[in-house]
Amino acid sequence: MPEPVQEKSTKTTCPYCGVGCGVIARVGNDGSVSITGDPEHPANFGRLCSKGSALAETLDLDGRLLYPEIGGRRAGWDEALDLVAERFSQSIAEHGPDSVAFYVSGQLLTEDYYIANKLMKGFIGSGNIDTNSRLCMSSSVAGHRRAFGSDTVPGTYEDLELADLVVLTGSNLAWCHPVLYQRLASAKASRPEMKVVVIDPRRTMTSDIADMHLAIAPDGDTALFNGLLSHLVTSGAIDQNYISAHTRGFPEAFAAASALDLPALTRATGLTLAELGDFYRLFETTEKVVTCYSQGVNQSASGTDKVNAILNCHLATGRIGRPGMGPFSLTGQPNAMGGREVGGLANMLAAHMDLEKQHHRDLVQRFWNAPGLATKPGLKAVDMFRAVADGRIKALWIMATNPVVSMPDADAVEAAIKACPFVVVSDVLRETDTARHAHVTLPSLGWGEKSGTVTNSERRISRQRAFLVAPGEARADWWQLAEVGRRMGFAEAFGHTSPAEVFAEHAALSGFENDGRRDFDISAHAAIDEAGYDDLPPFQWPQPKGTAPEERRFFAEGGFYHPDRRANFIAVEAVKARPANDAFPFTLNTGRVRDHWHTMTRTGKSARLSSHLAEPFVEIHPRDAQKLGIADADLVTIESPYGLVVVRALITERQAEGNLFVPMHWNNQFAAKGRVDALVPPVTDPFSGQPASKNVAVRATRFAAK
Ligand code: SF4
Repeated sequence: MPEPVQEKSTKTTCPYCGVGCGVIARVGNDGSVSITGDPEHPANFGRLCSKGSALAETLDLDGRLLYPEIGGRRAGWDEALDLVAERFSQSIAEHGPDSVAFYVSGQLLTEDYYIANKLMKGFIGSGNIDTNSRLCMSSSVAGHRRAFGSDTVPGTYEDLELADLVVLTGSNLAWCHPVLYQRLASAKASRPEMKVVVIDPRRTMTSDIADMHLAIAPDGDTALFNGLLSHLVTSGAIDQNYISAHTRGFPEAFAAASALDLPALTRATGLTLAELGDFYRLFETTEKVVTCYSQGVNQSASGTDKVNAILNCHLATGRIGRPGMGPFSLTGQPNAMGGREVGGLANMLAAHMDLEKQHHRDLVQRFWNAPGLATKPGLKAVDMFRAVADGRIKALWIMATNPVVSMPDADAVEAAIKACPFVVVSDVLRETDTARHAHVTLPSLGWGEKSGTVTNSERRISRQRAFLVAPGEARADWWQLAEVGRRMGFAEAFGHTSPAEVFAEHAALSGFENDGRRDFDISAHAAIDEAGYDDLPPFQWPQPKGTAPEERRFFAEGGFYHPDRRANFIAVEAVKARPANDAFPFTLNTGRVRDHWHTMTRTGKSARLSSHLAEPFVEIHPRDAQKLGIADADLVTIESPYGLVVVRALITERQAEGNLFVPMHWNNQFAAKGRVDALVPPVTDPFSGQPASKNVAVRATRFAAK
């Protein structure tokens, strides 16, 4: 266990999911740490889930990377940072700025993200910085930008409690955003008139509070919401005034939505006419509707179209930005939203500005006084690792993420990293599946040791505060990046000495866009000092200068971010069902379990968390299991053209026939052949670049030892 900073209580934020719960960490006289929910934090009001409650069990130093290492030997910071700066500079000099890349993470704090983005896009001059958030919510970003002209989440968590109908599509809220689920469940318990519809091929724990569960066919979402739009028009439930005043493109979207006749709609969605009718009538007749969507929508080759099909229905009814109404994208990671704010995606700039817009590039270049700002988007995650594989990228810096486990086609990603001429990994652990291939490893601060901000799914910015002394020589990621920036010759731009300075710069650049104008000094926090940063309470952006924080909603009265201030309806076509494939007849979906996080580097330390589900498994329907001669707890081999896993059979009627579910967390450290992303093909959505980690064609056989 790291040393406590001092004996006291510290308000900080949970490092796991995008709900962004406030926690209070208490350090006792004996150095022990206890964690409780922060009753004053507006995301959770004191609640915690199993993962948040077990945070104190994951703070030991087992496996920690405590010193910089070069080629596996201990090195000093100066030697390691000099080498990183030298090898990146050398690659840029010999092969150009696009020969280097950063692959970062929604686990980074906003301050880390800001400096990484500034260094790569502003000073190295390449767009090649992308993030593991690409794997989780980039289709929502792309959908928002197409419809709204900006990546803006219109609503707040409170809307789920105020709604009369909450539609959860592609979201196992009970396990993936547990405290938000608790808020919804308790609102439903106190208001029996509230209805919940769960749309998911599996009957998950979330379905337990559902009035209606629609076991949709894989990738049937666009057809389902296109059918809904068509129904809303024919039933007279659209808001013509809102459509006329605040949108464009409705006729084209309606024409595309009406393309499927009813038999085709039932085939595409896998739902009966009665199920469709019941859902459509409920949506039609309920004014206060919130539609939440998450990875089941985003992680698809048509994820962006699915998002826009949902947004179309809310725009058509004007049910957006008012209490209890609106589409709501749920972010997976603690700071997926913060990364979006500072341009952590290869196609974004900073402060939600767009790398492809000349006036945005000019503005950021002026603000940063950057010598050669990137002029085009960089490589998105899947393409980035392809470029590593084919030798275009010669120096790669991976921060706070484990792509050898989490990327699709994970075996190929591992081979690419192994073959890359220069790989730097910044992490808290010495031995991850990715770190073992690094030429240089840099010890980062863990949760409880680092200091900065994160933004949750409802745009709420909260402080993460340190309450433990950094072990060994671990240092903050933003500091590592700034040091390399200075050593690459950009000392003036990377002179930050604290996360507060970085936050103030980010806030100053963010400002608040009004009528297309963006000033550098109109954010309330642009001049924040160390004391103000220390005390910063959770608040929702935007907060313009001179205003108090407010629970702001967007777009009830239009005011979208396209130049004409209107929203775009997007005409989207339903995808055709994947043709039958005798060699790979099952559809595999991947996802989370309740008590583990990502690749288990932290939650794997807690015996309590591991006791919920102790090993990787495949959920399989009883009839499928019977056909394959598989009994409960048998080992099962699941294969795709890209790889295989061997996992334990869990036979359950919660799973739809013909579908399988395998959790994403286990890697080869925790279970031999347990790394499910080895099966996932490197197929991506054409607009967002997000990989399709759902609807993977596989076969399953009872495992036979050779
Ligand atoms: Fe942490 Fe998410 Fe659980 Fe809240 S719901 S305690 S943020 S894991």
